[in-house]
Amino acid sequence: MLTSGIYLCEIIAEETPRVLTHCRRCKKTTEFYCSEKFRMNAQQKHLDVWLIYRCSHCDSTWNYEILSRVHARLIDKELHRKFEDNDRETAWRYAFQTEQLRKGSSGVNTAIPYQLVVERMEECEGSLTLLLSTKYPFELRLDKVLSELLGLSRSKLERMAEEGRIRFSLPGATLRSKLKEDLQVTVLAAP
Ligand SMILES: [Zn+2]
Repeated sequence: MLTSGIYLCEIIAEETPRVLTHCRRCKKTTEFYCSEKFRMNAQQKHLDVWLIYRCSHCDSTWNYEILSRVHARLIDKELHRKFEDNDRETAWRYAFQTEQLRKGSSGVNTAIPYQLVVERMEECEGSLTLLLSTKYPFELRLDKVLSELLGLSRSKLERMAEEGRIRFSLPGATLRSKLKEDLQVTVLAAP
């Protein structure tokens, strides 16, 4: 249970989201996981790049198109090298493009395991401020993560929000919003 103060809360994804799509071998829609490997195809001076996914039942592949017929000169050399090396960080960046992934599939399962790393930065009387940050956004709902961090039920959080005791740094954010970027949440003590 966190007490008053300012906390840095890092949300660390432990896996990449799964993609739901039809598997030709399983003959039904299954979950595909990211293999963290790229496939590149060069034709004359144009390049195609895909991120390879595999069916969690039979290992058949599904390719997520990242670049299509892009002129080699337009591709950053460093990025090109990362595709060639199957750079994990780069693969993860693309694997968290959930909106884009959804367009070419039947859906994306973003309910992935994650860790919360909490560090107290400062003392602060009467209120509790959380600086939430996530390297890879994966549609985590604010009420879910706040419930875990504060050890309070979602209905209790809802009541506190109604009383104006929960404030977000992003205008329009509510407990039902999904964490997409760094966000500051301030929880005021009961009057
Ligand atoms: Zn399959």
